[in-house]
Amino acid sequence: MRIIDILIVGGGAAGMLAAIAARDSARKRKIPDKDFSIVILERNRLPGEKIRISGGGRCNVTHAAKPDELLAKGFLKKGEQRFLRHALHAFGSDALLALLARQGVRCEARPDGKVFPVDGLAASDVLHAFESMIADRAVSVEYVCTVSSVVRTGDSFDVKAGERTFRSAALVLATGGVSYPSTGSRGDGHLFARRLGHAVVRASPALAPVLTRDKPPAELAGVSLRSTEFIASAGGKQVSRRGDVLFTHRGLSGPAVLSLSREVAELFGTYGNCLLFADLFADLDQDALQNALLSESRRNGAKLVRKFLQHCPAGPPAALIPYIMRNAEISADLQLSGLARCNRIALLQTVKRFPLGTVKAVPLEHGEVSAGGVSLIEVNPKTMESRIVPALFFAGELLDYAGEIGGFNLQAAFSTGWLAGKASSEKTADRSSENSPCVS
Ligand SMILES: Cc1cc2nc3c(=O)[nH]c(=O)nc-3n(C[C@H](O)[C@H](O)[C@H](O)COP(=O)(O)OP(=O)(O)OC[C@H]3O[C@@H](n4cnc5c(N)ncnc54)[C@H](O)[C@@H]3O)c2cc1C
Repeated sequence: MRIIDILIVGGGAAGMLAAIAARDSARKRKIPDKDFSIVILERNRLPGEKIRISGGGRCNVTHAAKPDELLAKGFLKKGEQRFLRHALHAFGSDALLALLARQGVRCEARPDGKVFPVDGLAASDVLHAFESMIADRAVSVEYVCTVSSVVRTGDSFDVKAGERTFRSAALVLATGGVSYPSTGSRGDGHLFARRLGHAVVRASPALAPVLTRDKPPAELAGVSLRSTEFIASAGGKQVSRRGDVLFTHRGLSGPAVLSLSREVAELFGTYGNCLLFADLFADLDQDALQNALLSESRRNGAKLVRKFLQHCPAGPPAALIPYIMRNAEISADLQLSGLARCNRIALLQTVKRFPLGTVKAVPLEHGEVSAGGVSLIEVNPKTMESRIVPALFFAGELLDYAGEIGGFNLQAAFSTGWLAGKASSEKTADRSSENSPCVS
């Protein structure tokens, strides 16, 4: 049986970067390509399906920030930041953009830091760039090759895909998470890691929409609450995130909802009954809002309460105002001068905690990413090598991290892939030079 030097399962962002880094590292050591085999096994007919659909086909490829800022903005859990630090310092957004630029894919940052390809280029061009980098580096890719089992045999790994068995000196698992299973990422790597003795944190939703038990009224679908405080509460616990919230036909989406969805799913999973609210005046506390209301009432008592809400800077969208009025039990034609103290308090309480519904589900399969995966404490963050099985490496979303929206997830997949590829190459090259060269 042919022994492959580095076998990579999964041809997504992490797997492709692992292959690129592995070859570059081997070439740096002056190892001829023919003496050092790198093979990717990929279930699909093409690599990088998630890159192709990323950013709505535009591909938010990374986030323009130095590694520490990128970590702070993109990964809210301290343990994940600590784990990813080495990878992002070793291969950060600058290194990624330089690699793409060498392939003719120029990218630019938007004012919010999200980086996209420019010059009319899209996600498919980013993907083609990676495909040519792999081809230039003599990496073989076996497509339509679904790995079904991975076994450690002595010093090597036996990897089964259908009738075929591949034997390798080093193995990189880069099979992704479990969301959007039609892209090929179905959690197979979680199973392989578990069978190899690794703890795997159960997959859970992240960057997912939130479905509510009562669907929002049809006329609100498509309406956005700008820069609101989105709040979820269950079992006496409360979590919140600042940003835009979008009403959909089945519940809620938009940046604040996607960002908080991981915590909403945890609360919902633990307590069941999880209530959602929005602070529609997130920049003003209740006293400041009350003062604004009272002073407008003194100045212009004939003004309708609903007009006051409508004309407030950074206030709720017009479509929501009838619902606010109904919730606070205030009639639509009430003037500010007629607003009794109890109505005023009801109004203030409603806008500061406007009910958005009760969680019905946070669908794992619809998340841009999934949380959970191979436990970070069992992986060396400097090399991505398993602390349990030597020469086994992990990269990408298969690991137990989940980033925010903004290019952080692709960057983490590229960075961990790069580290895994480089470290596996160094380890295998050292071993090949100590022992015999690889057999074909
Ligand atoms: C709709 C959508 C939009 C997104 N947009 C963005 C964005 O704009 N910016 C951003 O940063 N992130 C975005 N993401 C997230 C980002 O795409 C992923 O986090 C990233 O692609 C993960 O890379 P990966 O290589 O770890 O896994 P994947 O890209 O999931 O790759 C894993 C690969 O392994 C293969 N595989 C799995 N099991 C097997 C097996 N048994 N045998 C062989 N092959 C197997 C799969 O077919 C797949 O090709 C988006 C995600 C989605 C779903």
